[in-house]
Formats: sequence, structure tokens, C-alpha cells
Amino acid sequence: MTELLSTHGLVARYGDFQALYDVDVAIDEGEIIALIGANGAGKSTFLRAVMGLLPVKPDMVSLDGRPIGGTPTDQMVQKGVAIVPEGRRLFTGMSVNDNLRVAIDQVGSRGRKGGWTLERVQQLFPILVEKGRVPVQNLSGGQQQMVSIGRALLCQPRLLLCDEISLGLAPKVIREIYAVLPEIRAQGTSIVLVEQDVGLAKSASDRLYCMLEGRVTLSGRSNDVTREQISEAYFGGG
Ligand code: ATP
Repeated sequence: MTELLSTHGLVARYGDFQALYDVDVAIDEGEIIALIGANGAGKSTFLRAVMGLLPVKPDMVSLDGRPIGGTPTDQMVQKGVAIVPEGRRLFTGMSVNDNLRVAIDQVGSRGRKGGWTLERVQQLFPILVEKGRVPVQNLSGGQQQMVSIGRALLCQPRLLLCDEISLGLAPKVIREIYAVLPEIRAQGTSIVLVEQDVGLAKSASDRLYCMLEGRVTLSGRSNDVTREQISEAYFGGG
């Protein structure tokens, strides 16, 4: 397997508060990894640090083996890393199609050729065809999440960072959304899932990392790690 992105001793701070300590995570091409951990463990901070939203040193993050830590977010997107942010952050007042076209106009047309088109996103989430002209604020939470994922895909990512895409959604909707992840991977996009639902994270990923208080406390193949190992890594061993 070829490594796509990795972090090396990644640290991140909010002012005086250190939120990440020496985090080493690696994602291969074609892989789905999950990042689990309780509230405040540092999962979102990890994604922000990778995306250039927090200051980090160049050699703390590499893409294709080249140091890219601290690269501004828009350039990270051009390099093929896109984020589905916590809370979705859609453009309220704009229709589903216009939300999706923003990504095509701003990134997709001049960026990498990843093969994601409006039609391809609509195949993934057929409900978005019917809702194309509907203002996004009138959609259900699950439909909004589909738009948010579609918008990120239209940036033609090689790596998609998903921040708690199941949060607040009904189990049926969560299943629908998680069901498309293998298709996204099949199109050549690797995925990092930040997820609080451990069962979901385990079943959807090839490997997982557990974080606690800004540190990685467990990593391994998702099929191999036991409930006991996860529980200890999640809550701390005493
Ligand atoms: P959650 O599921 O709540 O998003 P998380 O694992 O993603 O949890 P982070 O949001 O990365 O956790 O937060 C890690 C730590 O950094 C927490 O202690 C949090 O309070 C702190 N933190 C996060 N954002 C900020 C900020 N903007 N300013 C100061 N501290 C922050």
C-alpha cells in the first residue's frame, strides 16, 4: 500500500492550551480509517491541524511523503484534501445545487481531475436530484449532511476528512450515509472518519485510532482490536 498522508509528532495548541501531543497517524491510498475518542479528545483538532486551520510545523504532516504541515486550507484542498466539517456549514439561503456548484466553480474546475461530477454525487445520493432547487435550510439533517459530503467530493479529494457525519441523525439515515463510503473509496478517495459511535467506526473502517486527552492511545486493524482494548484506550487505564 502506498502512504497518502501521515502525521509525525503532530502537536497543536489553542493559545496556552495544548490540544494534541505527538500524534502519529498514517493513511494509505484506498484506506478508510476511523478516529475515535470521547468529547474533547482532540479528534476535530487533528483534522483542523491537518487542514492548515491551526499552525503546525511543515514536517509534522506529509502528503505523498512531502512535508505540507501548515499549508493554507485552500491549498490543501487543491492538493486533494477536503473536509466535511462538523455542523455541515452549508450556505444557508442557497439551493442544494448552488451549494454543490460552489465547490465545482471554486475548486473542481481548476483543481485535480478526480472524476466527481454533480451527476455522480446525485447517483450517490438520489434524493439530491429531487431536492436540487430547495434551499438547504429546508432539508432534513441527513439530507444536509449529504449535500455537505457532496460538496467536499466536488473538490475532487484524494482524501476526505469527515467530522462526525453521523451526529444527530437517525439510525436509518446514518446507515444510508455510511453505505456510500465504499463507493467513495472505490472512486479512489481515501477517508478519515471522526466518529463517536465506536461500533459504527469499527465496522466502517480498515484501521482505527483511539484518542484520549490529545494523545493516540490505541491503533490497530478495526477487526482485530477488542472491546476491552478500546474501552481502556477511550477512558484511560486508571
Ligand atoms: P468533540 O467530539 O467534542 O468535537 P474532539 O475530540 O473533536 O471532541 P476537539 O474539539 O479537538 O475534541 O477539542 C480538543 C480539546 O481542545 C478540548 O479540550 C477542547 O476544549 C479544546 N478546544 C477545541 N477548540 C478550541 C478552541 N477554539 N479554543 C480553545 N480550546 C479549544
